Amino acid sequence: MNQHKTSAKQPLKADAIEQWHAETDVLIVGFGAAGASAAIEAADAGAQVLVLEAASAGGGTTAMAGGQIYFGGGTPTQIDCGIEDSLEDMYRFLIATGGPDVDEARVRLYVDSNLAHFDWLVAQGLEFKSEYVAEKLNNTHGDEGLIYSGMETCYPYDEIARPAPRGHKGRAVGEGGGALLMETLIAAAQRKGVKVEYDARALTAIVDESNRVVGLVARIDGEERCIAAHRGVILCAGGFIMNRDMVAEHAPRLLASNFPLGNPNDTGAGILIGQGVGGAAINMHEGFISLPFYPPSSMVEGIVINGSGQRVVAEDCYHGRMGEEMFASPEEKFYLIIDSTNFETLQKPPLGGYSVADVGETAEELEQALNLPEGSLCQTLEFFNRHAQQGEDPLFHKRPPYLKPLDQPPYAAFDFSMGGGAWFPAFTFGGLHTGLDGEVLNSKGETIPGLYAAGRTSCGLPRCGALYSSGLSIGDATFFGRRAGVAAAAEV
Ligand SMILES: Cc1cc2nc3c(=O)[nH]c(=O)nc-3n(C[C@H](O)[C@H](O)[C@H](O)COP(=O)(O)OP(=O)(O)OC[C@H]3O[C@@H](n4cnc5c(N)ncnc54)[C@H](O)[C@@H]3O)c2cc1C
Repeated sequence: MNQHKTSAKQPLKADAIEQWHAETDVLIVGFGAAGASAAIEAADAGAQVLVLEAASAGGGTTAMAGGQIYFGGGTPTQIDCGIEDSLEDMYRFLIATGGPDVDEARVRLYVDSNLAHFDWLVAQGLEFKSEYVAEKLNNTHGDEGLIYSGMETCYPYDEIARPAPRGHKGRAVGEGGGALLMETLIAAAQRKGVKVEYDARALTAIVDESNRVVGLVARIDGEERCIAAHRGVILCAGGFIMNRDMVAEHAPRLLASNFPLGNPNDTGAGILIGQGVGGAAINMHEGFISLPFYPPSSMVEGIVINGSGQRVVAEDCYHGRMGEEMFASPEEKFYLIIDSTNFETLQKPPLGGYSVADVGETAEELEQALNLPEGSLCQTLEFFNRHAQQGEDPLFHKRPPYLKPLDQPPYAAFDFSMGGGAWFPAFTFGGLHTGLDGEVLNSKGETIPGLYAAGRTSCGLPRCGALYSSGLSIGDATFFGRRAGVAAAAEV
């Protein structure tokens, strides 16, 4: 047994190792979407593949996910559903919503290859049902395969790129899409002879005299073991939302979320291991922070106001955009105001289970009950209704079919404030800086030999919480995981 005081930030020198416990060509950390995709490709390229998985089973956060995958530009599902889309519209939309740190080359590659990636997932055994649901949803209730999963129909994106639904889910009921995806990828990896060591936690990298990564130290059965990787190590250990110290250091605003969205091993281990050998971590402050206020889509017909009675956002936006508004002003009060038409259509509480802050027979009554400045809500409603009757929203450009006057009292207000009982889930986007083949880069943009990363361990396609679309994280993890697997297997 090797006795090292192991820290992710302190790689082990290969020449100090007395005993190697195992060897492989490609060594992968984590058996979620990125790790499984990397493993399949590396095995297909003829490499011997070993995956270290800290949990007792594969799947990771991906298996907990709704399983939306962002595909477009004319997928078989879109075509079967009669949806017109083009790669250029998809590209324009992703660039427009990529945020200030958008990686144009990464988006271009993903868009241009995404139809082949769709086919690859189908070839692994994932089936998509060609049924489109037009309602505004987080995910389909049944096994339908296609929804709008971002802000494609919202201003100004509907003017920048022709809208098309691009949220694809494998044929699983409701939120089972991520579990089905992982069952499919794990079964495919097993068929290809990928070996998996469960309850095996990667701790740090092993480097040779030239600082090439040549293996990993892992804790297996309570012992630290050294595993050699002849071709490459791929870090696919997920993000860091469960590591509160890391979140406090890099993305402190995410601490305000009351629901870390991930599995217990989202502790940033992969990022720390990569940093230990000089890997740069980028965009670490960014993450997805959401207020999942729909379904039902009737909620979207309401208006969202702050404690001054003023509207703050186009309410037909993606739920991540809505969450961002509340996160930007955490001390502020926020309410979703609906009238009796909307209230009657609420057959069950909205997804997030938000509490009703108050009700009023009239707008004035609700305004007083919520302690809003005198006249503020009444003015906001009068202005909104006057324009909504004409099909317009000059302030925020909310679009039909959700743009409707709220002129049927009584009124109700849902509390969307942070601390008001609303559900604010969050996960991280920042991670290791990588090239298009997953090669980990240092702060000068130089490759760290032998080291790759993918999924939320890397900074990939998802870069901007305020403009995110569901499906980008799994799309990124599977696609760039595959590329890392191919590249690592090709090393000699
Ligand atoms: C409820 C929910 C719904 C979501 N819905 C969607 C959606 O519809 N679409 C979408 O795109 N995204 C969605 N996401 C986000 C998405 O699921 C994740 O961002 C993505 O799946 C991450 O994939 P990954 O391969 O990077 O990580 P994971 O799937 O988490 O895999 C990482 C694996 O690494 C293992 N690991 C960690 N540390 C170590 C270590 N030191 N040694 C060995 N193993 C280790 C973990 O146990 C885990 O199995 C959702 C997330 C949640 C929680």
